[in-house]
Amino acid sequence: MSQDLKPTLSFKNVTIAYKNSLALENISLDFFKGSLTAILGPNGGGKSTLLKSILGLVPLESGEIKKFSSKYKDIAYLPQQTEIDRTFPLTVNDVIAFGACQAKGFFKEINQETNVSIQKALEKVGLKEAGSRSLHTLSGGQFQRVLFARTMLQDAQIILLDEPFAAVDRFTIEDLIKIIKEWATEGRTIIVVSHDLEFVQTYFPQSILLARRVIAYGPTEKVITLKNLRQARQVSYEWEESNFQDDKTMQFLKNDV
Ligand code: ADP
Ligand code: MG
Repeated sequence: MSQDLKPTLSFKNVTIAYKNSLALENISLDFFKGSLTAILGPNGGGKSTLLKSILGLVPLESGEIKKFSSKYKDIAYLPQQTEIDRTFPLTVNDVIAFGACQAKGFFKEINQETNVSIQKALEKVGLKEAGSRSLHTLSGGQFQRVLFARTMLQDAQIILLDEPFAAVDRFTIEDLIKIIKEWATEGRTIIVVSHDLEFVQTYFPQSILLARRVIAYGPTEKVITLKNLRQARQVSYEWEESNFQDDKTMQFLKNDV
């Protein structure tokens, strides 16, 4: 990597706590333009917290996150599906138009140009005819396609995806990974949380293994090793051990490991 290449996003000794329990400890990471990075790790390891911290949704206990731009529109974020309320009375077009609002400002009218962009995005995600459908009628895969179309209109430089392929069918994954790769080729910085080791090994050149602290970080083939995965599991186990003191919980954890 060349010396003068500045990261688009940089964590310097970041620590984050919820109430009194540490979620992330002393995290230092750099992300570059056009990079495709996966975040892996045990449940509760701080993956979602890391993405939220980039958006400023959780306060830092200490350290610093440097961003090439602090404009709201420059970061696109897809939360875990479990965090999204789909009962809201919106159509597919409404949701995608919201991406345009983030790019252009909320008080700009949706004009013909935006409508053309919405249609193009719908075609790109394989939902050409679905614009007027209500959100709650979509399958998990279709809904994720809609969120990707929204992200296209937002046109952000940094794209954060939290477990985008959990509960999504194989065809959708294949279509959406193509879009993610295109985003990286366009010079955007992509960070994706995933539990699927094989998927990460196939598509992501860089990875971070996170278990409250960074266990490993760099080229995926050096990060996903048995030794590192064991260490991540051990760290999360020790952490749970110190958080659950009652005998019943301890017994359960011991049997589980
Ligand atoms: P992951 O996404 O890797 O499963 P999270 O970032 O969601 O992990 O959570 C990291 C830790 O922080 C967990 O112990 C979780 O219980 C805790 N945590 C997450 N969100 C909150 C919150 N809003 N309030 C209190 N604790 C939280
Ligand atoms: Mg999570």
